Amino acid sequence: MAKIETIRHSLSHIMAYAIQELFPDTCFGIGPAIENGFYYDFDLKMSLAPEDLPKIEGKIKELLKKEIVFKKKIISKKEAKKIFKEQSYKLELIEEIPEKTVSIYESGEFVDLCAGPHVKSTKEINPDAFKLTKIAGAYWRGSEKNSMLTRIYGVAFGEKEELDKYFFILKESEKRDHRILGQKMNLFHIDENLGPGLILWHPKGATLKKTVEDYILTTYLKEGYQLVNTPHIAKLNLWRTSGHTDFYKESMFPSFHMREIIQEEKDDYQLKPMNCPGHILIYKNEVRSYRQLPLRYTELGTVYRYEKSGTLHGLTRVRGFTQDDAHIWCTPEQLGGEIISVFKLALRLLRDFGFKEYEIYLSTKPKKYVGTLKNWQKSTNSLKYALEKSKLKYQIDPGEGVFYGPKIDIKVKDSIGRAWQLTTIQVDFNLPEKFQMTYIDKNGRKQTPIMIHRALLGSLERFIGVLLEYYAGNLPLWLSPEQIWIVPVGSQHEKYARLVRDQVSNEGLRVKLKDENETVSKKIREGEIQKIPYLLVVGDKEVKEKSVRVRERGKGDIGIIKLDKFLDKVKKEIEVKKIINNY
Ligand SMILES: [Zn+2]
Ligand SMILES: [Zn+2]
Repeated sequence: MAKIETIRHSLSHIMAYAIQELFPDTCFGIGPAIENGFYYDFDLKMSLAPEDLPKIEGKIKELLKKEIVFKKKIISKKEAKKIFKEQSYKLELIEEIPEKTVSIYESGEFVDLCAGPHVKSTKEINPDAFKLTKIAGAYWRGSEKNSMLTRIYGVAFGEKEELDKYFFILKESEKRDHRILGQKMNLFHIDENLGPGLILWHPKGATLKKTVEDYILTTYLKEGYQLVNTPHIAKLNLWRTSGHTDFYKESMFPSFHMREIIQEEKDDYQLKPMNCPGHILIYKNEVRSYRQLPLRYTELGTVYRYEKSGTLHGLTRVRGFTQDDAHIWCTPEQLGGEIISVFKLALRLLRDFGFKEYEIYLSTKPKKYVGTLKNWQKSTNSLKYALEKSKLKYQIDPGEGVFYGPKIDIKVKDSIGRAWQLTTIQVDFNLPEKFQMTYIDKNGRKQTPIMIHRALLGSLERFIGVLLEYYAGNLPLWLSPEQIWIVPVGSQHEKYARLVRDQVSNEGLRVKLKDENETVSKKIREGEIQKIPYLLVVGDKEVKEKSVRVRERGKGDIGIIKLDKFLDKVKKEIEVKKIINNY
C-alpha cells in the first residue's frame, strides 16, 4: 500500500479533477498533502459555500470508483506550456523550473504539473476514509499582492476507523479547549491592549497557579533544593557568554540599550529567555568545594521568549511564562544518583497531579556536540540507567539530544490519546565550561562540575492549560480555586450561611458565599458552568438541623449531610488527592 502522504496528495488531484468536472472554467493553483489530509487551491468563477462540499465529495467518490490510473510523463517545457495554456498559475510555475523538462501526472481527464509521487491507481484510496472539511480563502503563493484563491481542505486516512477517531478526538478536543474553559471558569484572559502571548491571571486563575506553585515548591525544598531568585533582565553580555546570542537569538526578544537616553548606562540589556545564567552567577559567587555538591537551585522563574504571533495558542504557546526551573551541579560520580532522583521526583509529581500514562524519550548525542565523548557516554548511560530502574517503557531518539548534552523528555497522555510534553531533564557539559565554573575536589584540585537543567512541569502556564484539557475543567478538589460555594435559599438563611462559610474557611478550604439576589437554580447552574466541586444549599431544614444539602460536581444532589460530616469528607478527599474522574 502507498504511503499515507501519497494517498493524501493523490486525493488532492482527484478533488481537482472533480472540480474540473463540476466547474469547467476553473484555474488551478497547487494541492499538497498536509498533516492529516490535503488541500487544493482553485481560482473559481463563483464562490463556494460549505453546503457545496457534499456535492464535491460525491463527485470524488464517483471518480475513485472508476479506478483511475495515475500516469507520469516527462515532457519538454514547451509542450507543457501548450497543455497548460489556459492555466496561468501553472504557466507561472513552469517558468520557474530550471530544468528543460517537467513532469506531469495524468489521471483520467485531469492533468497536473507535479513531481509526484502518486498512487498507481485510485484503487489504493479508500473512498470511505476521507472527508472534505472546510473552505477558506488563500492568496496565491501566500502573498496578498496576488489574487485570492479558494482553498478546499480535506482529511484522509488509510481506514475509516482512523477517520472516525480523528473526528472523535477533534470533537473531544473542542469540548476540552482550555481557552474556552478558561473563559467559562473565569481563570485568565489574553488582552490585545497588553500584548499577545502574555497571560492575565484572574483571581481564580492566579489561585490555581499559586496552588500548583506552592505544592511543587514545598516538594522541591523537601528534596534538598534551595530557593533562589533572579531578575527578569540582565546585561546582554551575559547572554553572549552563555552563547544564547548565537544559538538562541531567534527565540529572544530584541535587546535594548539605554545609553541613547541615559549616557552613563553603557551596557545593553536583555529580557531573560532562560534562568540558567543567573543561577550560574550565584554558584560562582563563592569558591565551591566538592563537599557542597550536589548543589540544587530552584526558581519559579518567569522567562520571555519570542514566538511568532501565528503560533501563539492560549496558555500552551505564549511569550512569557514561568518555568518550574532548577539547576543541579554535581561531580561525575554523583551524576547517576542525581538523574535517578530527578526522574523519580518527576514521576511522583505527575502522578500527584493525576497523570497516569506517559511517553518517555531519551535523546542521544547529535552530530554537532560539545563535551568529551567519555562524558556523553557516561551521562547517556546514567539517563538510561534511571529509565531502566523505573521499569517504564521508553523510546530512544537517536541524535536528538541538545548539542550540550543528552536529555529525557516525558509526555503525559490524556484520555483521548493526545500526548503533552511536560518534563525535561537535560545534562549540560557546555555552560559550566563557558562560565569557567569550578569546584575544589578532595585532592584540592580545581574541577569542572556537571550541570543538569530540569523543569518537571515545564512551564506553569502550559501546565495549567494541560490540566484544564486533561480534566475537561473538572479539576481535582485540591486544585480547584473555588472548592465550595454556599447557596442560601432565602435572605433569612444568610446568617446561617455565613456561619457555615466561616467554619468551612477555618478548615483551610476555599469557599465563597453566594448571597447575590438571584434564584437558587440560577446559582446552581452558574456553579456547574464554573465546575465548582461542591455547592452547599442551606434553607429552613438545614438551619434547623445544622446541616447542608450537598450538590457534588458531576453527581448532582447527594442529600443532606451534617456539616462536620461533610467537612470530614472533603478533608479526606484532599488528603489522598483523590482524582475526581467524572469527565
Ligand atoms: Zn501531484
Ligand atoms: Zn537551564
